[in-house]
Amino acid sequence: MIRVAIGGPRGKMGQEAVHTVMKNENMELVAVLDHKEIGESLSESPEFPASYDVPVFLDLESLIFTIKPDVFVDLTTPHQVFEHTTMCLQHGVRPVIGTTGFTDEQLQYCTTLAKNKDLGCIIAPNFAIGAVLMMKFASLAAAYFPDVEIIEMHHDQKLDAPSGTAYKTAQMIAEVRPTHKQGHVEEKETLPGARGASYDGIQIHSVRLPGLIAHQQVLFGGDGQLFTLRHDSFNRQSFMSGISFSINQVMDLKELIYGLENIL
Ligand code: NAP
Repeated sequence: MIRVAIGGPRGKMGQEAVHTVMKNENMELVAVLDHKEIGESLSESPEFPASYDVPVFLDLESLIFTIKPDVFVDLTTPHQVFEHTTMCLQHGVRPVIGTTGFTDEQLQYCTTLAKNKDLGCIIAPNFAIGAVLMMKFASLAAAYFPDVEIIEMHHDQKLDAPSGTAYKTAQMIAEVRPTHKQGHVEEKETLPGARGASYDGIQIHSVRLPGLIAHQQVLFGGDGQLFTLRHDSFNRQSFMSGISFSINQVMDLKELIYGLENIL
């Protein structure tokens, strides 16, 4: 039985993850981490049934020392996720991180920490299998189509931009294509930001609108042709098989894996 704790249980992703772990036969939900007073047990929260008698902690350190979970799944906010990840690794708990917003430096720090501690850690910008395949196919296509732009579209409550998926897609593309500036050499923005953000010359455009969940297009332009890869998550169930897979996988790892494409 894998003893799992979840951070952010009342959130849109957190609620789905709580139900997923509760239903899973080889997992036990041993605690949740919130940052607001919601009672001592998850069963006191209106989002969950009375049968969910799972202790609620407001402080990760005391959760770790009291409960000693095997895995901590983070579905909180970009503000706390780095601190949560390092605290887990310091205290021998394997992090499975869905929260996005890591900088390259923070990723590097966590990679070194996991290696030094001989501990598994998974940071997945996207748990949806289709999105993972889109990133993989994008890095394949970039070897043939070096001119590429990314349009990511999310709900308007998302805190970070660009999305972790767009950032990771750009990193994977940058590994296989020579750096170069796209568009006209004398291109000028008459409205700042019109050309989007740039990662190694790859333009990323972030759309935020109510009604959306998580969507991305990767556009490759060539002579007389446009090749488009597109993935849509229509609900948060699309992420849950990736979360279950990661909780199982992280138990056997002794290093940090960034992106599910590296272990699928
Ligand atoms: P959300 O609905 O805002 O949920 C976040 C939850 O975390 C809220 O209940 C929030 O409480 C709580 N929270 C905030 N700070 C906390 C802390 N320090 N400790 C414990 N709980 C805390 O957001 P969401 O849509 O579920 O997304 C959560 C994260 O997952 C985001 O970073 C998002 O980008 C990411 N995400 C990842 C994937 C993936 O496949 N990897 C897919 C979708 C989303 P309050 O609302 O009361 O502040």
